[in-house]
Amino acid sequence: MQTGVAVPDPGERRSAAASSRPLRVLVVEDERKVAEALRQGLAGEGYDVVVETSGEAAFFRLTTDRFDLILLDLRLPGRDGIEILSAVRRRGLQTPVVVLTARDTLEDRVVGLDAGADDYVVKPFAFAELLARIRAVARRGRPAEAERLTVDTLVIDCTTRRVTRAGGAVDLTAKEFELLLHLTRHARQVVSRDTLAREVWRETARSTTLDNVIDVHVSRLRRKIDAAHPVRLIHTVRGVGFVLREAGSS
Ligand code: CA
Repeated sequence: MQTGVAVPDPGERRSAAASSRPLRVLVVEDERKVAEALRQGLAGEGYDVVVETSGEAAFFRLTTDRFDLILLDLRLPGRDGIEILSAVRRRGLQTPVVVLTARDTLEDRVVGLDAGADDYVVKPFAFAELLARIRAVARRGRPAEAERLTVDTLVIDCTTRRVTRAGGAVDLTAKEFELLLHLTRHARQVVSRDTLAREVWRETARSTTLDNVIDVHVSRLRRKIDAAHPVRLIHTVRGVGFVLREAGSS
């Protein structure tokens, strides 16, 4: 659930259709023949295509690279498409996703759309149909509401991953950004170290070492976000965890 205040910013929305550079598409498909056909077909249409053949590789790719659109097979070995999609949306990435489902089962479609997919195509599909869906989704883009989170003078642009405080750019590492995003998405709620270990560090078990790592990241983040400002946003709740909130709220 998103609790930060959303500020629409139509000016920063990227219109794929209006852009002159090629649309960058990530294809996640474990069947190599299908993946290769998609790569060739989309490249032939002028798209800039990257193919990943496993859920893990796709997930890693999405933490380091940016795309205008994701074509995601739901049935993948290891981390399946739904897991990838949910993780991507939890992290605040609003990249449009078209899901490829193996069968026309209502369940697959509902689960896919619930997890944050924009559209789906049932395999086997006609390439022309897929192209039409891609164009439609890219043109539509994502609603602007989800792209920015604001608490006090802190603004997080989830799409560009740019963070500002009182208008000044804040330079964060990837992990600091994820930590801040998690705290902001759960603003005014106490977030435990357990939750941070699981959601931000993706560790299943807590350890003293990991607790220390979390504390170090929180104090660095606090220095970058709060040090120069009269209103502190990141607060420690002794023995429990952390909370991000503006002054005056509890
Ligand atoms: Ca598959």
